[in-house]
Amino acid sequence: MAKIGINIATGSLQKEEMIVGIDLGTTNSLVAIIHPESRQPVALKEHNSSSLVPSVVHFGDAGIVTVGEQARELLVKEPSNTIFSAKRLMGKSYNDVRNNAHLFSYKIIDDNTDSLVKVQVGDKFYSPVELSSFILKELKERAEHILKTPVTKAVITVPAYFNDAQRQATRDAGKLAGLDVLRIINEPTAASLAYGLGLQKEEEKKIAVYDLGGGTFDVSILQISNGIFEVLSTNGDTYLGGDDFDNIIRQYWMESSGLEKEVFENDKQLLQEFRLAAEAAKKALSKEDNFSVTIREMAFTITKQQFETLAKPLVDKTLHACANALKDAGLTQQDIDTIVMVGGSTRVPLVKESVAAFFGKPVHDEVNPDEVVALGAAVQADILAGNNRDFLLLDITPLSLGIETMGGLMDVLIPRNSKIPIKAARQYTTQKDGQSGIRVSVFQGERDLVKDNRKLAEFNLSGIPGMPAGLPKVEVGFLINADGILVVKAKELRSGVEQSIEVKPQYGLTDEEVEKMLLDSVTHAKEDIATRALVEARTEGEQLLASTEGFIAKHVQMLTPQELQDTAAAMQALQLALTMEDKDLIHKKIEELNEVSRPYAERAMDEAVGSAMKGKKI
Ligand code: ADP
Ligand code: MG
Repeated sequence: MAKIGINIATGSLQKEEMIVGIDLGTTNSLVAIIHPESRQPVALKEHNSSSLVPSVVHFGDAGIVTVGEQARELLVKEPSNTIFSAKRLMGKSYNDVRNNAHLFSYKIIDDNTDSLVKVQVGDKFYSPVELSSFILKELKERAEHILKTPVTKAVITVPAYFNDAQRQATRDAGKLAGLDVLRIINEPTAASLAYGLGLQKEEEKKIAVYDLGGGTFDVSILQISNGIFEVLSTNGDTYLGGDDFDNIIRQYWMESSGLEKEVFENDKQLLQEFRLAAEAAKKALSKEDNFSVTIREMAFTITKQQFETLAKPLVDKTLHACANALKDAGLTQQDIDTIVMVGGSTRVPLVKESVAAFFGKPVHDEVNPDEVVALGAAVQADILAGNNRDFLLLDITPLSLGIETMGGLMDVLIPRNSKIPIKAARQYTTQKDGQSGIRVSVFQGERDLVKDNRKLAEFNLSGIPGMPAGLPKVEVGFLINADGILVVKAKELRSGVEQSIEVKPQYGLTDEEVEKMLLDSVTHAKEDIATRALVEARTEGEQLLASTEGFIAKHVQMLTPQELQDTAAAMQALQLALTMEDKDLIHKKIEELNEVSRPYAERAMDEAVGSAMKGKKI
């Protein structure tokens, strides 16, 4: 099994193109490569500018999209069309983010609570995948500009705690940006690679990677043996980071300014000036002992010591998470051989000192902490390119493997270029009440619709006991053994009924055919992703129509005649939208129907809760 690359710009197949490493961060993103002459990892940057590209996307008039520093500057002035932290939404449903929705200044859509979130900007809807693809496209273009060559292949990093859906979303974002994503690797693994860890064959080590970024904190305990990284545990806080350091300084100054709260509420510009000055103070205090600034003719100062007193509770929180990570891995501080510091916020001396004290050893901080992940991704990319001869590449799957889901979509369980042997599983459910069987169709290929991929096998899981739609839990498992044989198993977890099948994925497929399938997926990426979005919108719309209909049948006496009439009109409008090829229109009509039904749906909930409480008397 071989690895095949495609030059998207020329459409030709290449064996020796540069593969870049990309850190797609919540706050900042960047690209790195292995320098062809020095053989050292380097972060790409234009002369006199930073390698970091703020992960912010601005939507301007006439559909102009800007990414990076320029977009970041518009965060306060144009909050509803300047999108930050899209990474937090990757692979998430509204139910997953609802408790934190107030932290986003832009509009997150809550139509069908179990479907994936979308962001509304004006009358357009963007998925987190699309938003991330804008950032990746910008990184790709910058890299091409600096390297003066097309860049089409990449390794992209994700947090160790990202699940399958989040990893798949990241892959899709890369594809949409015109990148062939050869591998998704864990950020802590990348950081370790940047320090040269795991590159010696006989090395056996336990590593703690402490990553404090702009808005997130995570710690991972890794084990390396035989060049293979294993994540033993992860812990952290997805809402703790450098922004919180900025906030404590800002609060401190705002209180000492003697200005009333309302002044800041009415003057967002002033608030922003405080925010920027606070971040500047924090950064300065990583090197100096005190900092002074004048904001609107008021003088403010803060010493390093004062900052540390304010920051200590936050740092202690991270140490607590470290203790939990160790506990989950079944280890103590003494078991850890190496500590790696990642993320811009680990520049704060108090952070470094506290982490070193906690583990009882000096920490590794020689590599630039906000570049280290991208540098490690470049090391991995170089290994994949086959340039690092000491490193043995294990067998990989040349094409993705998955099953067909609603609307004829391909749901990938094992992405291409995965090392074998490999195992993957995902849960599915039924569409209809009382459905007793599920058809599992196995496909191979990179296209989003199964009709464009290659069908490998198909079987029925029958004998599922009668249950309402959505209740059965059918787990589909894929296992590719060391000989490349794929075993597909489906099991209904509530009843235990199961069925399996064995296939040889590469059987009868020549190298040329594999190459053609890969090439097709790249040339059709845009239309494929658009079709997928349309099919998903339609499925969501159909489900909403069905559930609204069911709801009304049950609760018709609770609705006013006006509500009934409005609902019927909104349903009709959605029905009509479903026949058209416009996903934004469908989302808009879904949103409108939800708006109409929200008041009485809430009333019905109250009633249900009320009657439940009536029945429960002490
Ligand atoms: P992410 O991984 O979340 O994208 P980064 O690793 O790029 O984030 O970290 C960004 C954070 O690092 C910001 O909060 C920024 O203010 C902080 N930071 C950058 N430089 C320094 C410094 N010299 N001292 C303290 N904090 C810093
Ligand atoms: Mg990061």
